[in-house]
Amino acid sequence: MSTPVDEVELIKYKPTDFKSDQDVRWCPGCEDYAILKAFQTALAEIGIPREKHAVISGIGCAARLPYYMTTYGFHTIHGRPIPVATGVKVANPDLSVWVMTGDGDAISIGGNHLIHVMRRNVDINILLFDNRVYGLTKGQYSPTSNKGTINKSAPMGTVEEPAEPLALALASGATFVARTSAAYVKHLVELIIEAHKHKGTSFIHIYQNCYVYNDGVFDEFTEKDVRDDRNLILEHGKPLVFGKNSDKGLRFSDGKIEIVELEPGNPPDDITVYDETNLSLGFALSKLYWPEYPVPMGIFRRVSQPSFEDLIYEQVKKAKEKFSPDINRLLYSGDVWEVK
Ligand code: SF4
Ligand code: MG
Repeated sequence: MSTPVDEVELIKYKPTDFKSDQDVRWCPGCEDYAILKAFQTALAEIGIPREKHAVISGIGCAARLPYYMTTYGFHTIHGRPIPVATGVKVANPDLSVWVMTGDGDAISIGGNHLIHVMRRNVDINILLFDNRVYGLTKGQYSPTSNKGTINKSAPMGTVEEPAEPLALALASGATFVARTSAAYVKHLVELIIEAHKHKGTSFIHIYQNCYVYNDGVFDEFTEKDVRDDRNLILEHGKPLVFGKNSDKGLRFSDGKIEIVELEPGNPPDDITVYDETNLSLGFALSKLYWPEYPVPMGIFRRVSQPSFEDLIYEQVKKAKEKFSPDINRLLYSGDVWEVK
């Protein structure tokens, strides 16, 4: 076996060291460029050798990302990057494995895989580019599209309630769940680094604007002039305070969240102090949305739990000790027939 990622000698990289010779083929101005930049910056900061990373994708605009990296990569089929990434990680636990996926790829056709990878806690990192539309196939509504979205496949507007990826991740038992926007590149870099440090499945939900088919869908809470008022930045151990002047807070009790006005810099004692290990609080926060509530950004859950591949390798080791491998004993055990 090769050297585990947490034991390798770190290298001083620049973000451009992760840039491949391929032309980037997203639409000019697409926020996927910002995610690519954040990812290359984060990997440079992490500093493990490039050949220790494997970047796996499914189908969709997001899925082009592995071509633009100087790491190992695999552009797989629609909805299936997670099973392939699981195979890569279990076959070679010494790789740092990344999944690049979109709302169609991960929540629609690959939804089942998303649930089970989180339940198993395979040590891979999933970046979900959520633009609430099928961009690559030119603008059909996706499982996360806002109710009432009008586009090519819903000329009268969608009638469905959208899926909430964070709530799905939390309900599936994910051990690291976070959210940010592609417009907040520095925050995204920080979350990618935290996801890498986490042992187990890390899931980062990224609001990503598609300028061509769903432009401005996140503007009302991500635009520069409103974001401080309309986002709530989650920080473990700190009170849930938000607003440009830090003049509002959240109180969580009996499973409900209420907004409380407060004196800036002096939150009352009953404002909830954020705890990233509190599943019911994380779940309640995952359901908040503008304009009724601020939109939370940051880490919704981070807990420690054994990873799938560690448990598998442990089990194989125990089985070898218990049964000492012997091919003849295996071939002649159980029902054996003599062919005449
Ligand atoms: Fe980006 Fe949308 Fe163009 Fe896809 S279709 S590359 S998501 S702008
Ligand atoms: Mg999409």
